[in-house]
Amino acid sequence: MNLAEIPMSVMQKLGIDRMWALEDALAARPDGLHATADSPERFEIMTEIIKRGYKRPDSLRAMPHMAASVIGILRSLQTVDKNPAQPRTHISEAGLAKLEAYARSVGIDDIGYARLSPELVFKNKAVLHENAIVLTMEMDKGRIDTSPSEQSFIEVHETYHHLGRAANQIAGWLRKRGYSTHAGPALMGLALYPPLGQQAGLGWRGLHGLLITPRFGPRVRLAAVFTSIENLPPCSENPHGWIEEYCNLCHRCAKECPPQAILEQPIVHANGRVTCTETDKCFPYFAQNYGCSICIRVCPFQEQDYATLKSHISKRQHRVTD
Ligand code: SF4
Ligand code: SF4
Repeated sequence: MNLAEIPMSVMQKLGIDRMWALEDALAARPDGLHATADSPERFEIMTEIIKRGYKRPDSLRAMPHMAASVIGILRSLQTVDKNPAQPRTHISEAGLAKLEAYARSVGIDDIGYARLSPELVFKNKAVLHENAIVLTMEMDKGRIDTSPSEQSFIEVHETYHHLGRAANQIAGWLRKRGYSTHAGPALMGLALYPPLGQQAGLGWRGLHGLLITPRFGPRVRLAAVFTSIENLPPCSENPHGWIEEYCNLCHRCAKECPPQAILEQPIVHANGRVTCTETDKCFPYFAQNYGCSICIRVCPFQEQDYATLKSHISKRQHRVTD
């Protein structure tokens, strides 16, 4: 039997059940940041695939990355017990510059800082600290341009693997220097990352609900490291809000989504959280078509230069006011 033939239920027993037990242990701790009654449910992809009887995408080359992601998730949860009892809470400017240099050396593309609100923590979950170092990692354009395909599926899982590993490395680097940390995984995160990325100034939420970043558009994966460092520099002003206006004129992702899962008008909840897609429409297509990614592929922000797209909006604004 090759790796791709291992039944999903066996994989779940080997990794996911253990992950849930560790997540429950973290949520049972009195410290940390806990979800509220208003928090969103995390969509449990593996369980849903088994429940609905979908066949796992037949990609032997993606399997080692998926397995490595699960091992990385277990590591991120197991290592919270290795934190110092009296952690440091402040970092100097020089220390922050070294942290950012280290993050880039392990493959991180962009770094931002934000304070996580409990409404963004998934229901019944917790993270160790509210102070978040938010991380992005680019996915290869050539591979994503083939989506949905085995190539794009591999790229997504390779990026999850590498980003999850980098988050663990950054958490370990900080822990060695006396800080308490909890690496938030790229795959199966414990909090909603796109709004956290927006809060950190790394981009703006697109109509498809993904974070649109200036360098790579939505062609990135996100992770976070939660830490005891209280003086991370917050983003005072996010310059990417104009993206919302661009989306209002574009709607390409909504038009090209095969099951029409992207809402033409996102739902804004009372606590400010925004729902952009209908999971019940997206998931069957996503799960049976190599994780889809069409909404990433067709987004103009992953094809064209950010400044060029911004100039379209500026010119339009001038025409309206002239
Ligand atoms: S992943 Fe595919 S199915 Fe899901 S919202 Fe994006 S385009 Fe639609
Ligand atoms: S495809 Fe268009 S509407 Fe959709 S997120 Fe990208 S820019 Fe916005």
